[in-house]
Amino acid sequence: MRVTLCQAALGGAIVLNLLLLFCVWRGPGGSPPSCRVPRGVPGITVLLRDFEDFENDLAGTARSFASLPAPVLVAAEVAPYPPVPLPAGVRLLLLRPVADRPPVHLELHVHTRHVALVPDGTRAVPGLLERMRDALEEGPGDTRLAVAPVGTVPLRCLELRVEPRAWTARYSPGEAGLCGAVEGTAVLLLRTRDLFALPFPLARPVPTAIFIQAALRGWGLRVMPAAFPAPRRPPVSPHGRWKAEKLGESRRQQLMRDLGIKREVLADGGERWYGCSKETARCFGTVHARTPQYLLAGRWTPPCCLRALRETARHVAGALEAAGVRYWLEGGSLLGAARLGDIIPWDYDVDLGIYREDVGKCRWLAAAAAGEPVEDTEGFLWEKAAEGDFYRVHYSRSNRLHVDLWPFYPRRGVMTKDTWLGHPQDVEFPESFLQPRVPMAFAGFTAMAPNNARAFLELKFGPGAIENPEYPNPDIKRLGQD
Ligand code: ZN
Ligand code: MG
Repeated sequence: MRVTLCQAALGGAIVLNLLLLFCVWRGPGGSPPSCRVPRGVPGITVLLRDFEDFENDLAGTARSFASLPAPVLVAAEVAPYPPVPLPAGVRLLLLRPVADRPPVHLELHVHTRHVALVPDGTRAVPGLLERMRDALEEGPGDTRLAVAPVGTVPLRCLELRVEPRAWTARYSPGEAGLCGAVEGTAVLLLRTRDLFALPFPLARPVPTAIFIQAALRGWGLRVMPAAFPAPRRPPVSPHGRWKAEKLGESRRQQLMRDLGIKREVLADGGERWYGCSKETARCFGTVHARTPQYLLAGRWTPPCCLRALRETARHVAGALEAAGVRYWLEGGSLLGAARLGDIIPWDYDVDLGIYREDVGKCRWLAAAAAGEPVEDTEGFLWEKAAEGDFYRVHYSRSNRLHVDLWPFYPRRGVMTKDTWLGHPQDVEFPESFLQPRVPMAFAGFTAMAPNNARAFLELKFGPGAIENPEYPNPDIKRLGQD
């Protein structure tokens, strides 16, 4: 049988396709070694990423590592200014796209199997990078990061847990050998393919960015006892330090936005917040079908929003009480109070019922009822809702996190109202639930609630409402569906 050139080419193509299909089918985790092109040649590329444009030690650090010898790359958004004289062989790669030039893909410039992220102001030690690489490769199976201190201050080992659903990174003192992050200036070494498999391989500050992404992947970290020396440098000028602090802060803000972190809980118990405030807009847009956008993204209410909602609820309850307006926890807020004494962790507002006849007793409510939104002395904005006969108190004019106030009035022993939004829990109820109202812990204060909250909730949400949590609109998204 004769095989034509065409047939042979076709056959070859089919075999190649089958092979490729096999590799893809095995998936990235399970791909057999024969399918994976070994990434890079043995060796360690030194990457200088964390440095300032001004008063830096870039030339000295680059010269020291280039003399090892090791390939050294300097990666910056734009060329440092004033220009830094880099030693021969050290390449400067500019990451910010420029309209009339081809884009720079840093990973195409790293040819070695390992890469070391070296902070500005570090001096090389012959053999130490290789020892870090060996520690990484010989460590337990999940070891993906080796870390060595720079200078004489030892690194502080921290445990790091990242809870994406709660938008939170939580640090606590770690036991030596079980760190998820370290505090202090450090060189980080990892496999090149691991670094460039991260969504933010070059985000700054480098250590924070790498530790958080590593924690999300369960990567282990080895801390080296040996340190890289730090050179004696002229003291940074006060203005230089001020600039560096400003830039560091705005980089950290950007990084946390990228990583979806709105709260860092520090090892000493302190907190850093990156979410919304009175001056900013709310973290999430208008809620459609009772399902806020964060729920669709597999997350719960951002902690900054929960904090602002608690503050607004407490403020409103205080104002109503002071004015003698009878109010009570309604709907999801009562449900949260019954379940955990707090706002439900995925809820987006707070609901209170009020006696309609009491509206005139509170000056802010009365002003809102007259038609004009009014900002009270503490910056909360009271207004009549456009959607119907109810009131809203916003956290601020810019941040529209709010407490809804639903006016009810008694009719033949039944509490009713004029605006119904068609929610299942939006129903009339016997006034006896409010005779008397009872105090109940909620969101960090004591709120007033219907007596027999369980019966009230089961009337509104159906039996088992307290015991069986569910998202507000299970037709759109159910709890446990992520
Ligand atoms: Zn927020
Ligand atoms: Mg609600």
